[in-house]
Amino acid sequence: MSLPVGRLLVAVLISLAVVAAPDGETPTHYRFSFPEPEHHWMQVEMTLADLGAAPLQLRMSRSSPGRYSLHDFAKNVYDVHAFAADGREIPMTRPDAHGWQVTDHGGAARVTYKIFGDWLDGTYLAIDTTHAHLNMPAAVMWARGLEDRPAALRFDPPAGRNWQIATQLHPASTPFEFTAPNLQYLMDSPVEFGPITMRQFRVADRAFRLAVHHAGAPGDVDALASDVEKIVREEGEIFGEYPAYDPGHYTFIADYLPYADGDGMEHRNSTVVTSPESIRGDRLDLLDTLAHEFFHGWNVERIRPRSIEPFDLERENPSGELWLAEGFTQYYAPVVLSRAGLVDVSSTARTLGSLVGSVLSNPARTIRSAEDMSRMAVFTDGGSPPDRTNWSRTFISYYQFGGAIALALDLTLRDRSDGRVTLDDYMRAMWRVHGKPGGSREGFVDRPYTIADAEMRLAEVSGDRSFAREFFARYIQGHDVVDYAALLSKAGFELQRPEAGRAWLGAVRFNESRGVVRVGSQPPIGTPAYEAGLEVDDEIQQLDGTRIRSAAEVAAVLQRHKPGDRIAVAFADRSGETRTAQMTLLADPAVELVPIERTGRPVTAPQRVFRERWLN
Ligand SMILES: [Zn+2]
Repeated sequence: MSLPVGRLLVAVLISLAVVAAPDGETPTHYRFSFPEPEHHWMQVEMTLADLGAAPLQLRMSRSSPGRYSLHDFAKNVYDVHAFAADGREIPMTRPDAHGWQVTDHGGAARVTYKIFGDWLDGTYLAIDTTHAHLNMPAAVMWARGLEDRPAALRFDPPAGRNWQIATQLHPASTPFEFTAPNLQYLMDSPVEFGPITMRQFRVADRAFRLAVHHAGAPGDVDALASDVEKIVREEGEIFGEYPAYDPGHYTFIADYLPYADGDGMEHRNSTVVTSPESIRGDRLDLLDTLAHEFFHGWNVERIRPRSIEPFDLERENPSGELWLAEGFTQYYAPVVLSRAGLVDVSSTARTLGSLVGSVLSNPARTIRSAEDMSRMAVFTDGGSPPDRTNWSRTFISYYQFGGAIALALDLTLRDRSDGRVTLDDYMRAMWRVHGKPGGSREGFVDRPYTIADAEMRLAEVSGDRSFAREFFARYIQGHDVVDYAALLSKAGFELQRPEAGRAWLGAVRFNESRGVVRVGSQPPIGTPAYEAGLEVDDEIQQLDGTRIRSAAEVAAVLQRHKPGDRIAVAFADRSGETRTAQMTLLADPAVELVPIERTGRPVTAPQRVFRERWLN
């Protein structure tokens, strides 16, 4: 349902009135305008009153809810001015790179600044002639000490543009005015301001809105809305009910535009999903992301780790629980797509098989536990740093690691209870104790969980305290891995090693240039290449006595050997020092998950029942 143009014109006139605050406290007013959207900047005006005598400390955030690394959002802010109530400009100082201080304000101030943003994803700010897409921490200044004050926001559309707003902010008196009860809620509330195609549906007395900004046809959005509704219903089944969405609805904000960066970001009552792909071109991947982010409405937004509640906007937010917050969410997306009938069993097997493979074949799990991997998010969630790291062999994403743990726990619970207890029961228990009680203030969670809480809920659900202790100690805090092949066979899936007959020296990339072959990626610990002493940039001179001039020649040498064979490698390191070492080749450990019926063998009756209960 889009906003009629007639109403839009009326709205512009009305918006000149001041936006009322949601409660008695003095609101901080924000006004956003877009004089030159083609140059990707917006003008922000911020008005503050009742400041008392203390200096006004303005900040740009360094982190963004749902992101775990540090950012420098202040880097795109410029042309900053502060004015007193009488209109005179007040000088500002810069206490640090992320802040501005105003002392002589006389109790009220109007602050103006410009901010540039040209990156379309869930974290940054994107302004162009087609829309303004705001992730609040990347867009708005806020004042230290005034975090509990409400905010009143007003958006001025660029001249001649029929833009509408999709957001979880509370609607105010016009379609361009909104409020937030406090800073935590404001910062969690992204805004899409543009030519939105909106679809709405209701499930179990809850309102859901799908707001799409894309280059496709309106019919594509109808089809997407129908798929999203199935996802919403299926996830509601897992938890038994929906959260009470604060503004009265949940909003999926989707930007599917060729220049978007692929992303998905969860919020309490909305999500932002972005992709350079179209609805028609990449339907299943887009649905997977939507299913993932919607699941976060329970898991992380309300079933929330204590380590990130409340979210600190000025520093990184390390959490040892992201294997659960992100990983379990990662696991449920493909499971939900399967239960909703949106994917076939082979597709589900491929996705779950990749979770298993990422843990089984990666010795990094012997170095860092799932908890340790979670705490690495403050470094890894920001992308690749400029210097080299050894993450490729010491880090497994907590998405995949946690997803594989969720799979292990779900299958284990089902197996040991003959299907009576499942991971759904565990998620419901977490919801009941930690999520459903909600927060005494909007935007906050009063009963966030610790790792001990998460273990306790498993003890309760499984009815077995020692099982819960052992599972956490071995697979979450320790370095063990479950017998996935045995567990998956219960559901009629076979964990195959399709390349097991092939000789393998490790998952190593080789770069070739003008007849010189160099190691192009870090040999994983424990692989033949690692044991031989090979490192990035080393030049491979001979392998098994053959002079090496191309990566294809490396593959050819391996092809004529079998696992267990010993071959020599002669190489030069970056200093030019040459060495020769012996390598005992291993079997390629790559795994693939296959439904048993695809192997030509029948699915047994118990396997069929197990699989149906799990994935249908
Ligand atoms: Zn996530």
